[in-house]
Amino acid sequence: MSEECTHDCSNCGAACSSRNAAPQHDAPNPNSSVKKVIGVVSGKGGVGKSMTSALLACAMARRGYHCGILDADITGPSIPKLFGIHGRAMADEKGCWPIQSRMGIDVMSINLLVENEEDPVVWRGPVIAGAVKQFWQEVVWDVDFLFVDMPPGTGDVPLTVFQTLPVDGIVIVSSPQELVGMIVGKAVQMAQMMHVPILGLVENMSYAVCPDCGKHINVFGDSHVDEIADKYSLPVLAKMPIDPELAKEADAGMIEVFAGDYLDNAAQTVAKLLKK
Ligand code: ADP
Repeated sequence: MSEECTHDCSNCGAACSSRNAAPQHDAPNPNSSVKKVIGVVSGKGGVGKSMTSALLACAMARRGYHCGILDADITGPSIPKLFGIHGRAMADEKGCWPIQSRMGIDVMSINLLVENEEDPVVWRGPVIAGAVKQFWQEVVWDVDFLFVDMPPGTGDVPLTVFQTLPVDGIVIVSSPQELVGMIVGKAVQMAQMMHVPILGLVENMSYAVCPDCGKHINVFGDSHVDEIADKYSLPVLAKMPIDPELAKEADAGMIEVFAGDYLDNAAQTVAKLLKK
C-alpha cells in the first residue's frame, strides 16, 4: 500500500497514487509454467484484436512453440469460436485445464465454462476482473507463450490484467480509422504506466485487394500507422488487409488452416523475447 493512500491500492484502479509503481504480480497456478506473456490490446472493439491474438498464436505454434491463449475479453469472447472449440473446460486437484485446439494451442475462455455459449455475461467490472485473475491463478498453463486477448480500451479489466499478470510485452492492434485518433496514445500511456514494453503496432483492415486487378483499396481511408509509429518510436509489425478468405476461415472455426503470413514479422518479434 502506498503511504498516501487510505485504501488497498491493489483493488482501487487507476485513480491511485500508487499507479506509477511497478505492479506486484499475482502468482500463477503452482502447476503452471509460462515463459512469456504477451498482451494483445486495442482501443476499441471490432478492430481484429482476437483475430490478431489467434493468428499470432498460430504463427508461433508453426514455429514450434507451445502456445496458449487466455481470452480476457470476458464480455465478448471470440477465441473458442475462431478455433472451432465448443467443449467444457474440466478441473481437477491441480487446477482448471485449458482446451487444446487442433494444432495444440491451449485455450481458456469464459465460453468454455458457461452452460450455454450464447448466454451473455452480465457481470459488473470487478467480477469480470476477478474471472480474468482466476484464469491466471487457477488454470494450468504449460506454455512457451501465453497470449492474452485483452478486453478493448483502458478500463478496469485491462488494468487488472496488467496488475495480475507479468506481461512481457504488448501488441497494439488498430484499424486505419482509429489510428488517427488518440487511441494508440492512450494504449501507449497505459503500457508505460504499467511498465510493460510495447512490441509494436498491427494495423488491421489496412486495405482490401481487388480480386480482379490486384489493386489495393484503402477501405477506411489512408493509413496513418507509419506516422503514429514514428510519433511513439514504435515498430509497425504488420499491415493486415481485409481478407475474405480469413473471414471465411474465422467464421468456420478454422483459423488454424489459414495460410496467410501477415503476422510473420510480428511472430519474429515475439520469438526474440525467448532468445534474450
Ligand atoms: P476484436 O477482437 O477487436 O473485437 P475481432 O478479432 O473479433 O475483433 O474481429 C471482428 C470481426 O472482423 C470478426 O468477425 C473477424 O473475423 C473479422 N476480421 C478481423 N480482421 C479481419 C481481416 N483482416 N479480414 C477479414 N475479416 C477480419
